[in-house]
Amino acid sequence: MWRGDGFVGVGGGLDYVAAVTSSAAGVSSIRLHAKASSLARAGRLWFFADDVLEGDVLPPRLVRLADEAGRDLGLAFTGAGKIAVRRAGGWPGDGVPDRETFFGARLEAAIAARGPLVPEAGVRLVHGESDWLPGLVVDRYADVVVLQVTSAFVEQALDAIVPRLVERTGAAAVIARNDVGARRHEALDGDSRLLHGRRVDETAIVEGGLRHVVRPFDGHKTGFYLDQRPARALVRELAVGRTVLDLFSYQGAFALHALAGGARAAVAVDQSEAALARAVAGARANGLEGLTTIAANAFDHLRTERDRGGSHDLIVLDPPAFAKSRRELRGAERGYRDLNRLALRLLAPGGHLLTCSCSHHVSLPRFEDIVRQAAAGLPFRTVLRRRLGAGDDHPAVVTHPESEYLKVLLLQRCDG
Ligand code: SAH
Repeated sequence: MWRGDGFVGVGGGLDYVAAVTSSAAGVSSIRLHAKASSLARAGRLWFFADDVLEGDVLPPRLVRLADEAGRDLGLAFTGAGKIAVRRAGGWPGDGVPDRETFFGARLEAAIAARGPLVPEAGVRLVHGESDWLPGLVVDRYADVVVLQVTSAFVEQALDAIVPRLVERTGAAAVIARNDVGARRHEALDGDSRLLHGRRVDETAIVEGGLRHVVRPFDGHKTGFYLDQRPARALVRELAVGRTVLDLFSYQGAFALHALAGGARAAVAVDQSEAALARAVAGARANGLEGLTTIAANAFDHLRTERDRGGSHDLIVLDPPAFAKSRRELRGAERGYRDLNRLALRLLAPGGHLLTCSCSHHVSLPRFEDIVRQAAAGLPFRTVLRRRLGAGDDHPAVVTHPESEYLKVLLLQRCDG
């Protein structure tokens, strides 16, 4: 949604107001160099300290951003990390709003864009830059709200953010999951903590009639893989009468959806016994039969299956991010290629492989290339049936590729 140099966030409703002078009295402002300014006009959202022509990036705060000629680029957060300036969207006038006003408006716009809050649902309410709230993720699991804060400015503003979230969502608990590596860049601690209400170790959400347990303090990410909702729905649709292999299953969300969709049997494979125990409990709680769990290294399991001539109608391959940094890219690509090749070989005729990558550093074209290499030389054709990503509550900004990290491909084995 572009409007001139600035643009309005999801469901924004705040009109961007024309150019201002950067030197208005009392305005905390930062001016970018000419090169960075042209990148900003093209949609770049992040800048380094040496992109700044005028103004200080420290201390971390909300500033008015301008291009080299003083033309307004909206608001931005400054910070202590390598990414020193992160754009935070247009704002009326030429000043900087106070934190309550700023976060009040941004949170309201983000939450309103998700539609009515369904009491028992899991939903991402704030997706960082995509909601013009850089360094903030907010997930809601029924009446528990979990934050992930990776910006020093957002951290300082929690006293303005948390009461708003409580008021808007009626949350019984607000938890900060601070065990994310990105916090280190802004010199923030790694201790998760309760920000509001009572401590809740376990809650549950309902998705498509299925109940999933969510552990906000020690579950993966903020407690659950909300981003795979569209892929779970697809698996459920495809599962009728099928045998399903759910690799890197975690607590078996895909396997459970497959069984709910009428799968004959589902095998969940993960190296974590604790995660598999939750998968078994999840099947029981939902009255689902036909789940087998195997605690194993998924690579080894695939090779064992290959050696015994196993075959499956539907395979889900949802590994953790293999490339945590650019340096790990080559090894990661090899890992994805091997896994996909092994999995494709285990497909029954007409079978489907749902293959995923959540590595930021592996782009969609790159991932498709890896899958192409994995499919080369197989004795059947591999057809790409669908491309999926995270759900609508994880909107991606097209000029900010970092906001689009999850790639999901549905492949089908076609014989003859
Ligand atoms: N598919 C899951 C999310 C997967 S997260 C869902 O939709 O909820 C990745 C999982 O891979 C974790 O549970 C982790 O324990 C597991 N894992 C990581 N490396 C593994 C390996 N080499 N073999 C088996 N499991 C592994």
